[in-house]
Amino acid sequence: MIFEVKALPYAKDALAPVMSKDTLEFHYEKHHKGYMTNLKGLLEGKPEASKSLEEIIRTGSGGVFNNAAQVWNHTFFWDGLRPGGGGAPPAGSLADLVQRDFGGWEELRTELINAGKTRFGSGWAWLVLDDGKAKVISTPNAETPLASTEIPLLTVDVWEHAYYLDHRNRRDTFLEVFCDKLINWDFVAQNLAAAR
Ligand code: MN
Repeated sequence: MIFEVKALPYAKDALAPVMSKDTLEFHYEKHHKGYMTNLKGLLEGKPEASKSLEEIIRTGSGGVFNNAAQVWNHTFFWDGLRPGGGGAPPAGSLADLVQRDFGGWEELRTELINAGKTRFGSGWAWLVLDDGKAKVISTPNAETPLASTEIPLLTVDVWEHAYYLDHRNRRDTFLEVFCDKLINWDFVAQNLAAAR
């Protein structure tokens, strides 16, 4: 694998004031890159070091799995954000899917917020495609649908480090802001098209 975290798809101040430059700075530089540093240390001199990140996640366990999955989850999270994003998905096959499987954007929004809010401790809320049907799930710690048969379309990080600088303890406010101002629907639509 390549032992580098992918560059952020926007400048660190591009999501401000919705997500502050400080949050991006710490979350990306310290947390995301920190998982990669840990992973590099764990795999040094091991045959797994030549595998892809996805392969390492699907076959790894313990610290190797945790750090590899966190590297992948964070890249997927960053790609799902954009300045001026969020709100209802634009008309098209994605909006049709949301209508068919949730009844509309308001319903999906409520499910996403609820999944993130009720994830006890640290983890992730996801929009996934499960056998062709869209659904919302949440996973604890580093767990990722990539290691299952579900296909991830979008995720939101609900570890405290994702929102504490901007929102303190208000995880629900962070989730509302994510839904209303940050989601990169183009990224979700690309994942949907690739999955079909
Ligand atoms: Mn994080």
